[in-house]
Amino acid sequence: VETETVARQRIGLFGGTFNPVHIGHLRCAEEIREQFALRRIVFVPAFMPPHKKQPGVAPQHRCEMARLAIAGNPCFELSDIELQREGNSYACDTIDHFRRQSPPGSELFFIIGSDAFSEVHTWRRYPAFFEHCGFIVMNRAGCCAPSSFNLPGGAARMFTRLDEDTYEHRSGNRICFGRVSALDISSTDIRARIAGGRTISYLVTPAVERYIRANRLYRQPS
Ligand code: ATP
Repeated sequence: VETETVARQRIGLFGGTFNPVHIGHLRCAEEIREQFALRRIVFVPAFMPPHKKQPGVAPQHRCEMARLAIAGNPCFELSDIELQREGNSYACDTIDHFRRQSPPGSELFFIIGSDAFSEVHTWRRYPAFFEHCGFIVMNRAGCCAPSSFNLPGGAARMFTRLDEDTYEHRSGNRICFGRVSALDISSTDIRARIAGGRTISYLVTPAVERYIRANRLYRQPS
């Protein structure tokens, strides 16, 4: 009975620039949590995303907006590990961190949109990080259709395809396709709306909207 109470915990790591966090992030995370029976999802804002232009808004602001956005959801947490680490925010370092931190027997899944996953082969320590973490790939509106869920070149030989939505790595970690509602919402679009003096209501949570206004963020075109 004791051992049952320490059943394998599935933990999601949701990395992003969150510039700003929007309801596309929140709703997709919620659907993934339900679909994959994740115990919790940790939002991990990047200090410096290595594959994007340096965001005009400070990491502390992006982190605070993520904190406000997830407040009240007991399954959502925030980690400022990439802010503490500073420098380029490499997913492999974050995966290592959570591997060390998590209770023994936990299963880690890195949650990522299909747009970002299609570039995973350019990440640092690719493909070694597949040894340490599973991946859940969410379809992203305007990006690849679910049927184009394929492994980037080079990785295929390390995986066995279990079904249309699942690959298994030789370590046992899986890459799973998570079907989420298509919400064509992006931070880029939200920043452009603010710079253009347009409303962003209902694209972000009310607390995030208030924070952006109070701190006069994104008023200049990025
Ligand atoms: P930007 O427009 O500035 O590039 P973004 O909206 O893509 O930002 P990120 O913080 O870069 O937001 O996204 C973090 C992760 O969430 C990425 O893996 C991205 O693919 C995924 N994601 C973001 N928005 C959506 C969405 N609407 N549907 C599915 N996945 C999403």
